[in-house]
Amino acid sequence: MARTLITSALPYINGIKHLGNLVGSQLPADLYARYRRARGDEVLFLCATDEHGTPAEIAAQKAGKPVAEYCAELHDVQAEIAKGFRLSFDHFGRSSSEQNRKLTQHLAKRLFEEGLIEEVEETQVYSETDGRFLPDRYIEGTCPNCGYDSARGDQCDNCTKQLDPTDLINPHSTISGATDLEERKTKHLYLKQSKMRDALNDWIDSKADWPILTTSIAKKWLNDGDGLQDRGITRDLSWGVPVQKGDAPWEGMEGKVFYVWFDAPIEYIACGGEWAEKHGLDDAAWERWWRTDKGADDVRYVQFMGKDNVPFHTLSFPVTMLGSNEPWKMVDYIKSFNYLNYDGGQFSTSRGRGVFMDQALSILPADYWRWWLLSHAPESSDSEFTWENFQASVNKDLADVLGNFVSRITKFCRSKFSEAVPEGGSYGEQEAALIKDLTEKVAEYQSHMDAIDVRKGANALRAIWVAGNEYLQSAAPWATFKEDPDKAAAQVRLGLNLIGLYARLSSPFIPDTCGKLQTALALPDLDWPEDVEAALNALAPGHGFAVPDNLFAKISDEQREEWQEKFAGTRS
Ligand SMILES: [Zn+2]
Repeated sequence: MARTLITSALPYINGIKHLGNLVGSQLPADLYARYRRARGDEVLFLCATDEHGTPAEIAAQKAGKPVAEYCAELHDVQAEIAKGFRLSFDHFGRSSSEQNRKLTQHLAKRLFEEGLIEEVEETQVYSETDGRFLPDRYIEGTCPNCGYDSARGDQCDNCTKQLDPTDLINPHSTISGATDLEERKTKHLYLKQSKMRDALNDWIDSKADWPILTTSIAKKWLNDGDGLQDRGITRDLSWGVPVQKGDAPWEGMEGKVFYVWFDAPIEYIACGGEWAEKHGLDDAAWERWWRTDKGADDVRYVQFMGKDNVPFHTLSFPVTMLGSNEPWKMVDYIKSFNYLNYDGGQFSTSRGRGVFMDQALSILPADYWRWWLLSHAPESSDSEFTWENFQASVNKDLADVLGNFVSRITKFCRSKFSEAVPEGGSYGEQEAALIKDLTEKVAEYQSHMDAIDVRKGANALRAIWVAGNEYLQSAAPWATFKEDPDKAAAQVRLGLNLIGLYARLSSPFIPDTCGKLQTALALPDLDWPEDVEAALNALAPGHGFAVPDNLFAKISDEQREEWQEKFAGTRS
């Protein structure tokens, strides 16, 4: 049995994510996990909240709560919303877990032993007004690379360049706005990324099948003079993984924690440990996914992320993994995404612009969103959510094509025959042609899903739905019935079997709808239809069914206008 390990970029803890975040990692990762499971793979699908760092501290302060308590609450909120979107994680962990603390401290020790971590006495920005050293994100200023005036101390949001706070022009404290910043001496650990340049280059070169978006970003940062700078991996904070050498203290590093970007990706592995613990399994259970010396060498590991996360996943995290000189499972394929924009601008968390995950579920069921987001995934370029497009897509693809097909065939069968697959007649030329056509279309759909071409997969699935509709339109059993009831029975039989085929093929995209179809048609399972002809004969005459409730409600113009206004800005 093929084994597939899937991770989604970890959503940050400080609040509910918007639909752009969702379609950039967790949702396509779920699509692929569901597809691989349906094809019979053994799948381990992991995700977690990324909980350390200053933004969590700031958010907790704003909420008036201790940061640990704040993170625990927000983790539960995000987990609940993920369930609402039917994200089928095998485990949704936390980067603040015991497993991640231990593994992060262990890997730091290994990297130090391998000569890849250096202790550096350095100057750091100290704010007299605030009475503390300022971590990167507490400092903003002008980007020396592109001139953007709100670059953060760790990264410029405009040009994505990784920065150090001292690189900024005209820096100020984001806590107080103070500009009386001065540099003072303190000790920190540096990850010697530059030493790994050749190893990284060879490793990236070995990935000939990666998407261009992934490889181009990786190569850009690898070969850019500053892209692979040695990075400080410790911070003066209290919330985070305490700096230790494995189980032992690290002299001179008391009171410091690892930088969130060092420990967050390690949580991918630690999350496997959390999963095993939750299910009462031993270490061997997760190690067979993560250690090539313990069974993981036949695992295919796929990561999903937005393009802004690519440098960390192609350079920094691989430095940790390769540099540890331990047999960790390395990623085989990185699927990265461009950005989803919102109605003529950008989604904005700070301004509440756009649709956030909880709001989306409060107005429509998950499948509506899953279908639109996945069929418009920002793969080859950025894409844009507009309410007009969303309305058109839902009304046409889901309501007119799929929903209407199911409704017509089941209701017609009930009125002319009964609520059971009718007997009589047999498939003729027209049906044979449809089966041949669908066999090709299903093969095409599979090839896109195998390649994780999300939009192409959605288009191919839609074409399969359309083919059924066109058949029904042209076979017209309601007309045939008057002349030749046996022939009409065979047409309806095929139609009902088509619904079964759709339920199986569509479940990675719209799992709730497919669950409803499974119940209505009393399908024993949603196994993948490896043989389309066999699948279209699976429901035998006499097999009972129930006409399902209307699968999709159309979005009216009034609703569209109301939502357009509601989500224009300032989330209430
Ligand atoms: Zn910049």
